[in-house]
Amino acid sequence: MKAEILAVGTELLMGQISNTNAQYISSKLPDVGIGVYYHSVVGDNPNRLKESLKTALERCDVVITTGGLGPTQDDLTKETIAGVFGKRLVLHEESLTSIKNFFNKIGRQMTQNNEKQAYMPEDSIILKNNNGTAPGCIIGQGSKVVVMLPGPPSEMKPMFDDYVMPYFKNKSEFLIESKFLRVFGIGESAMETLIIDLIDGQTNPTIATYAKEGEVTLRVSAKVKVGEDSEKILKPVIDEIKKRAGDCLYSDRNQNLDSLVANLLLEKNITIATAESCTGGLVAETLTNFPGISKVFIGGVVTYANEAKEEILGVNKQTLEKFGAVSRETAAEMAEGVRKRLNTNIGISITGIAGPDGGTAEKPVGLVYIGLSSESGTITKELRLSGNRNRIRTVTALHAFDMIRR
Ligand code: ATP
Ligand code: MG
Repeated sequence: MKAEILAVGTELLMGQISNTNAQYISSKLPDVGIGVYYHSVVGDNPNRLKESLKTALERCDVVITTGGLGPTQDDLTKETIAGVFGKRLVLHEESLTSIKNFFNKIGRQMTQNNEKQAYMPEDSIILKNNNGTAPGCIIGQGSKVVVMLPGPPSEMKPMFDDYVMPYFKNKSEFLIESKFLRVFGIGESAMETLIIDLIDGQTNPTIATYAKEGEVTLRVSAKVKVGEDSEKILKPVIDEIKKRAGDCLYSDRNQNLDSLVANLLLEKNITIATAESCTGGLVAETLTNFPGISKVFIGGVVTYANEAKEEILGVNKQTLEKFGAVSRETAAEMAEGVRKRLNTNIGISITGIAGPDGGTAEKPVGLVYIGLSSESGTITKELRLSGNRNRIRTVTALHAFDMIRR
């Protein structure tokens, strides 16, 4: 089955809000065997909505709309869509009672226009809204189905999960099951080249790669009959990808590099301290996002100026003068210094040039050194990154996590 997600709302077209509803729905529909073919957005205008709906119904079997179910003048989705199907709106008593109860619960007076929300297209399946006033509905004609959901994500999401997903699950013969593999240390195009023969020959499962800030995610999706095991389709291909990606592949559970490292440290009870310069505490900040990390994260410092590197970490003045603040040698001494002073298993350090200023021919913007000191010695890594300040800092932090993982 093919689906189109049609978001209704002038505020979306004006760029006031982003269409997160479409993103949410798109991420879930494959689980019930529905492929999303189109996203579209239309303003609160009945003629253009009618046009968009007709186009969507021509090219798809399922159309899911969000927005425009509210009580105000500009909320026209129900009327317009019912019109296209030649259906009237009729009072749905149960919804009227729910809306009245909702207003009682929040202690507000119900206004006349709220009653409008209880008028639903005849012969439709009504979807209860437990977090707001506007019910949704499913209306069908022949093989075509339109699902209408309210705009606010806090109302739309539970209704979609509780009613729409089960509705389609019952109908569909096939499901799509996906596994996500995470790769770091190899770019998207290099990764694709590595598995191009698998991608080219793909029918079931299908493989897709996408990249975000230095990380590559591979999605492997199998189409299976309901009740059939997807494992036998997914496993051979996943094993082959694992073999080719080697130790660049760090997770087959769609896990972030940082959460993988946090779990690893906690599991093995490895204590860590951080000494950061150009990342300004990003590694420490990321680690402290994980509840319970205090068992292993002992502390971190941001040592920006040379004096701070000397005073706080005990980096040698001679090292700084001879090799500079951005050097392997300084990174090594920073990592050793913070590890010694905070008495941890691991000390991790970062020193680099995030730009846009401060680069030279010899030490350009994007040159970063990471140091990792542990019981078995100190290692350093040189990075030559491209991109703006923000990207350089983000990717550097990822590299630091990658070093810790290894
Ligand atoms: P209400 O009863 O709140 O009026 P509604 O179904 O009429 O609900 P809209 O009026 O279209 O929905 O949108 C209400 C709010 O929901 C918007 O102001 C916006 O914050 C959010 N919203 C609407 N559409 C989307 C969307 N596609 N993605 C994310 N948020 C959305
Ligand atoms: Mg509205």
